Amino acid sequence: MFKRLNLLAALFLPLFAHAATLQVQTWQGGAKGAHTIAHDDYCSPVTSGIEQNAIPILNQRGLKASLGLIAGSCSDAQWQTLKTRISQGHELFNHTLTHRGMLEPGSLAPISDWDNVKEIVSAQQLVLSKLGYTMHFVAFPSDLATPEAKAFVEAMPETLGVRAAKHLYDGKAAGVNEADDLQAMFVKWDSYWRDGKWSLYKPARGNILIQHAQAAIDDGVWTYATMHGVADASWESVPVDQYTAYADFLAAKVKSGELWVAGPSDILRYQMTRQYCPLQLSGDTIKADTSDARCKRYASPITVDIKLDEQQQGIFTQQGKTLTSQLLDKKTARLSVNPLLGEVKIK
Ligand SMILES: [Zn+2]
Repeated sequence: MFKRLNLLAALFLPLFAHAATLQVQTWQGGAKGAHTIAHDDYCSPVTSGIEQNAIPILNQRGLKASLGLIAGSCSDAQWQTLKTRISQGHELFNHTLTHRGMLEPGSLAPISDWDNVKEIVSAQQLVLSKLGYTMHFVAFPSDLATPEAKAFVEAMPETLGVRAAKHLYDGKAAGVNEADDLQAMFVKWDSYWRDGKWSLYKPARGNILIQHAQAAIDDGVWTYATMHGVADASWESVPVDQYTAYADFLAAKVKSGELWVAGPSDILRYQMTRQYCPLQLSGDTIKADTSDARCKRYASPITVDIKLDEQQQGIFTQQGKTLTSQLLDKKTARLSVNPLLGEVKIK
């Protein structure tokens, strides 16, 4: 009889005890959504407002931009400045060597001497040689690209993502990016237009940059804002008061924990890791399935919440090292885990 009770207990105890559970947060740090601040045409003489106006406004608020270089136009002084921008955490992305598009923006007629190797590969090489920096994201001039050019860029080993480009203007590259249906090679964006043309938002309803950032929080998605300069001679330059209000909004939402503001590579890495390196809790161990090639390519730390069982104190080790964690409440710990670094033991 005693033996039989023990057997029953062994069978049913796991169902009744509070077993630990694992939840991967959709966005880093448990934010509701993610947002990217992007400035195209860096190193063009007409976008001087990126350095004069945008960067100081962002740096004062601890916000990180992503800067699309026209690499062939950068001067020695600009390469020096870019070293500082990298050290401050801003991302650089490939916006070609000369900004020569492959289609005429007006007529969409093909431009005969577009050259993938010259415009894309040599821009990568130049930035690597000047800065020791590898760009992982590509945006074509005017976001116009032939299927062949897109396939070329997607096949490059360092490419983690591409801004949505088409061979026509149909408004369909504008949009928001769903966490569970993320197209890394077709990252949708919204461009700043003073009159709202081609934008998802209407200036009559307020600052369109803020509307786009708010959409990330409201819909739990990633929104990517494409801009050129700020208060300068660039195309659809953003007035400084609108830009400042936008930066204030972003800083407040980062502080409240609602919004994650980062460059496209960090956001793509997080999201692809979440999808393609699935984690599983097995007793006192967090295990990862890293067999998918996309897991190996993109893996980076992701935010994991663990509801501890009664025996666990909330100490996490990976490869013998204790991971930093915080207690959200008495029973829930939050930590950052890179699945590629092996299983995590919980004590
Ligand atoms: Zn451009």
